[in-house]
Amino acid sequence: MLKAVPGTNDIFAQAKEYPFREPVFRYIISTAEEVLRGAGAQMVYTPIFEYLEVFQKGVGLTSDIVVKKEMFVFEDRGGRLLALRPEPTAAIVRAFNEHGMKVWPQPVRLFTWGPIFRGERQQKGRYKQFHQVDYEALGLSDPLLDAEAIALMVRIYKTLGLRNLEVKLGSVGDPEDRVRYNQYLRELFGPYASDLSEDSRVRVEANPMRILDSKSERDQALIAELQPKPMLEFLGPAAQKFHEQVCNYLDRLGVAYTVDPSLVRGLDYYVRTAWEVHHAGIGAKSALGGGGRYDGLSEMLGGPPLPGVGFGIGVERLAIALEQEGVALPADPSPTLYLAPLDEAAKIEVLALAEQLRPKIHVEIGYTPKSPRKALEDALKKGARYVGFIGEAERARGVVTLKHLETGEQRALEPLQLHSLFEGPELK
Ligand code: AMP
Repeated sequence: MLKAVPGTNDIFAQAKEYPFREPVFRYIISTAEEVLRGAGAQMVYTPIFEYLEVFQKGVGLTSDIVVKKEMFVFEDRGGRLLALRPEPTAAIVRAFNEHGMKVWPQPVRLFTWGPIFRGERQQKGRYKQFHQVDYEALGLSDPLLDAEAIALMVRIYKTLGLRNLEVKLGSVGDPEDRVRYNQYLRELFGPYASDLSEDSRVRVEANPMRILDSKSERDQALIAELQPKPMLEFLGPAAQKFHEQVCNYLDRLGVAYTVDPSLVRGLDYYVRTAWEVHHAGIGAKSALGGGGRYDGLSEMLGGPPLPGVGFGIGVERLAIALEQEGVALPADPSPTLYLAPLDEAAKIEVLALAEQLRPKIHVEIGYTPKSPRKALEDALKKGARYVGFIGEAERARGVVTLKHLETGEQRALEPLQLHSLFEGPELK
């Protein structure tokens, strides 16, 4: 029997293992959507695959995604390389430029959610296909938008009922600040290159900052020993002022955060603001979500200058955190009416009646004829408010036997009476 690829998951209501239960996903996505729409962001769907260059140029040649070949790449029939998206931001920037959103009132604030693909080794909270809710504010370089993005992200987590959050805020500076920082790191790590992991050895020359967020224990041990100065000490005056403004705005909004002077992010396109949201239950090495400013990304993709800031929330990791905090999910809606056939001929009668009532109320039906006692058990299991039976006796009189499950009150109703009972906005 064929099985799913390791690192991919089927998501359904009765899934035994967190975080793969569909009601949890629905809760997260609908809450995020409500928060983001309520703040005026528009939903956008971009394809789950793009030309490889969109992601390769965007995330950077020294990111894990490119170095460790974490992208799922395939050829189209013309031999052009395509990739499943390893992150949504580059695709959204591509769409912004392609559809001339520059002429819309700025900033343009967009959100999306959907599957993301990275060929990482599977562990708890790390999958080959996972899901993200993603928000992007494009077209304006103003620390107000960074503060708003962080506040919205935190509000999504809090609305879901999550506590124990920590927002780590840093700045990766402007490109020229990073040139100075990388030079400093190159000199620091250079003599110890042979102590680094194979991936990081390449980075000493190409992009030593990337060594700092390496997942390799070997690299982390060397970092602990060498104690590099943090990025924040290398900010130029413009990036420094921008960072202070983001902090001031967050203080003013009452959003709690801690400044992490050495925060660096996994993707090359970030400038200035970078942040991560951590949760005790997920472990220090993995973030619940992250975000940052990416003013140079559009130009990396061959587009015009386009400032932007945004975040990605990992749905699976968030589901794990919600479970660990024991957050109760909203109950699934239960049917107002459960209609049960008592004999073979009643099957279609029950379905026909259900279809007439369904625009008004939530109706479920039994699919195989049962005794009234068994059908009643089914209705109770479903949490229905009423159960209706149709059998030989009902057919002879042209009625449905309707029982209110809470009071036990039972009456025989003609279809018209049944319709008017469920017509009103408030049912007993
Ligand atoms: P990143 O784009 O790497 O900052 O990822 C944003 C968020 O997506 C992370 O904070 C995680 O919550 C989630 N995430 C990233 N990679 C994975 C993965 N392989 N499996 C599950 N969630 C992930």
